[in-house]
Amino acid sequence: MQIDVDRLKCVGLGLCEAAAPDHFEVGDDGKLLVLRPEVDAAELAEVEEAVRACPTAALRLLAQ
Ligand code: SF4
Repeated sequence: MQIDVDRLKCVGLGLCEAAAPDHFEVGDDGKLLVLRPEVDAAELAEVEEAVRACPTAALRLLAQ
């Protein structure tokens, strides 16, 4: 699976980082950095939680 971010919706709150810190990091400038866009099976639950946690629905998981 692949992480897709709608940059127009992301407001840099960092709830995704709290749920999946290996994949997301919000910089001091409030911009979201996707550390690793690819998600393997062992990481899927954590990244799905990050997708659910995002208050602006800016995250999606896409099939590769
Ligand atoms: S939780 Fe959503 S709005 Fe907040 S930084 Fe992550 S993607 Fe952006």
